[in-house]
Amino acid sequence: MSEIKVRFAPSPTGPLHIGGARSALFNWLFARRYNGKVVVRIEDTDLERSSRESESNILSSLRWLGLDWDEGISVGGPNGPYRQTERLELYKQYTEELLASGWVYRCYCSEEELATQREAQMAAGEMVGYTGKCRDLFEEDCKRLEGEGRRPVLRFRVPQGKVLTIRDQVRGDVSFDCNGIGDFIIVKSDGIPTYNFAVVVDDYTMGITHVVRAEEHLSNTPLQVLLFEAMGWPVPEFAHISLILGQDRSKMSKRHGATSIQQYRDMGYLPEAMINFLALLGWSTGTEDEVFTLDQVKESFSLERVAKSPAVFDLEKLNWLNGYYIRHSPVEKIAELAVPYLQQAGYLPEIVDDRLMEKVRLVTVAVREYLEYMAQIVDYAGVFFDDPAYDDPEAKEVLSQEQVPVVFGALRDKLTNAGTLDEAGVKAMLKKLPKELGLGGKNVYQPLRVGLTGKTKGPELYHLLPALGGPKATERLERALAQARG
Ligand code: GLU
Repeated sequence: MSEIKVRFAPSPTGPLHIGGARSALFNWLFARRYNGKVVVRIEDTDLERSSRESESNILSSLRWLGLDWDEGISVGGPNGPYRQTERLELYKQYTEELLASGWVYRCYCSEEELATQREAQMAAGEMVGYTGKCRDLFEEDCKRLEGEGRRPVLRFRVPQGKVLTIRDQVRGDVSFDCNGIGDFIIVKSDGIPTYNFAVVVDDYTMGITHVVRAEEHLSNTPLQVLLFEAMGWPVPEFAHISLILGQDRSKMSKRHGATSIQQYRDMGYLPEAMINFLALLGWSTGTEDEVFTLDQVKESFSLERVAKSPAVFDLEKLNWLNGYYIRHSPVEKIAELAVPYLQQAGYLPEIVDDRLMEKVRLVTVAVREYLEYMAQIVDYAGVFFDDPAYDDPEAKEVLSQEQVPVVFGALRDKLTNAGTLDEAGVKAMLKKLPKELGLGGKNVYQPLRVGLTGKTKGPELYHLLPALGGPKATERLERALAQARG
């Protein structure tokens, strides 16, 4: 096989969505698996809905996910420019060829005329589509109509009586009856090519060998194949990947949760988890394995194992995966990710010095096992940064137990002599305490927890104490006692 070349061709009409990211990933995996090349180009022919803001969101989301490309927008290459609106001259050149060969003709029907034609077709119980009214106009008809101020669109002359079979690498053979495809527009009256035309010129001129894209484009494929054939260009291989559905089996939408990659990034999902999750949306390793890195999928990805049936978006699974990566990544990395959330909550100043960073690291060690995504750290971090109010009735009850002053005094003495606290040291210290005091574990640990946090539940004491540090812990215990007495 000659070198594989795929493309990801987003329309910049909004941020990068889960579905688009999955298409980009599958293209990337397929190319990388077979040492092929990835092109990213921008399909911005919908002038009203396209924006540079969406374009940069899409590109930064791709980069954040760790997907790179060899040729295309922002990296350049021999087949640029890579924005369709900057390639209009090229499309024009091929339009001339198609006009000259007769595959394409000018159509002057107005919107109103098209609507009337459609109504008549419906009333007669006929298939709705362009009637072919302008198919055989003479040059002078065109001149006359243009003289009336009409601006033509260009339509492709769809051959009748032909059945097109597309060999799809995911779906198998899919056949289309050309009689059901009306003569479609390839250039609008403002001179801007339609998606179906621009995509074919781009795929050909960029040397694309495989088109891997969402199933919703399957109905466009016969139109594109007709154009490839009319131009005498080789038809690329196609692979249409299934729709993504919500848990209720309806098409994935905002109702099912955040839909853009940026939203997940903002909530503190890790790119590794997103990639892992996206890879499982319609593909499987063929084993029970569910946790893998981009590099690992790259080694085993194949289009054969892409499912024909729709993928179901399972937020619980994403949360589980993300929690897994939060727990298994180097703690320093997770602590870095925690910083902006803690700053936003007012727990950290704008500048985080080394001492504070060490505290964040210890807080992260203490709470990361509870997190599904990083923004949740704020819900668990309060006890490390805010001094407790001791106003919880259950907490008050614990603090009024008679052994409490002795327990607090004992820990305070130990903390005074302990120097810098670390997990192992604190564990050993706490383990000995009940025996030394002649008390049961619960009567020691429960009051200490309440004294240090104001709550009866929370992080492990051996995590909490190193994060608070001896002086702060002692101060809290004293305040708790004063509160209990008062
Ligand atoms: N621009 C199209 C989209 O964003 C992709 C078309 C294609 O992959 O052929 O849906």
